[in-house]
Amino acid sequence: MSRAKFSRVILKLSGAALAGNQEYGIDPKFINSIATEIKNCLETGVEIAVVVGGGNIFRGIAGSAKGMDRGTADYMGMLATVINSLALQDALEKLNIDTRVQTAIEMRQIAEPYIRRRAMRHLEKGRIVIFAAGTGNPFFSTDTTAALRAAEINADAILMAKNVDGVYDSDPVKNPDARKYKNLEYIDVLNKGLGVMDSTAVSLCMDNNIPLIVFGMKEMENIKRAVLGEDVGTFIK
Ligand code: UDP
Repeated sequence: MSRAKFSRVILKLSGAALAGNQEYGIDPKFINSIATEIKNCLETGVEIAVVVGGGNIFRGIAGSAKGMDRGTADYMGMLATVINSLALQDALEKLNIDTRVQTAIEMRQIAEPYIRRRAMRHLEKGRIVIFAAGTGNPFFSTDTTAALRAAEINADAILMAKNVDGVYDSDPVKNPDARKYKNLEYIDVLNKGLGVMDSTAVSLCMDNNIPLIVFGMKEMENIKRAVLGEDVGTFIK
């Protein structure tokens, strides 16, 4: 059995990742394949916490663009991440993986509140912890949540699964000559304005020396390859 390069990681899944090929909502088939891949990762001995986005259901910024109060819209976005987290928990538990959802906004009938030490204890016991409701604060993103939780639980890296297979110097969808970076430094991400994560998340990772691996989800086994330290996309430190 191959051993993980990292002891503990945060896996960041955007809401779009759970939608699969759909425009909106959750594709059960897709979420089941993510859960299966997470199970495969556990065999390497790594501890995995997951931060799930909500963009497949609602994004605060989209609501505020249509005239909603941004704070209210962001709370709706955070609730969307809870829906996604429960769907992922369900898929993982169908595979007999002990999973706990911890939410940054208390809703005790649905999930545990976020308690840092308890989250770490779950991870030590081999459970998957899903961090829901982002940071619990409007005006932040789930990328920032991933950076924050990674710092809090002493994760060795953030694995960011995307629709694109790494970080490019320009949008590879629009520019066929776009060049993919193999390695990057956070400061370059900020200076070049590369759209990896929002700048709050980048700064948090940079200040706390948390490496980030950005890779494509088209090949689901990339998650495990990233855990094993294989070259899967772009490595940022
Ligand atoms: N959100 C928030 N605070 C947080 C995390 C998320 O207000 O700490 C809201 C925000 O409105 C965001 C939405 O939740 O648009 C969904 O998160 P995100 O856009 O990061 O999801 P993703 O793009 O990863 O699917």
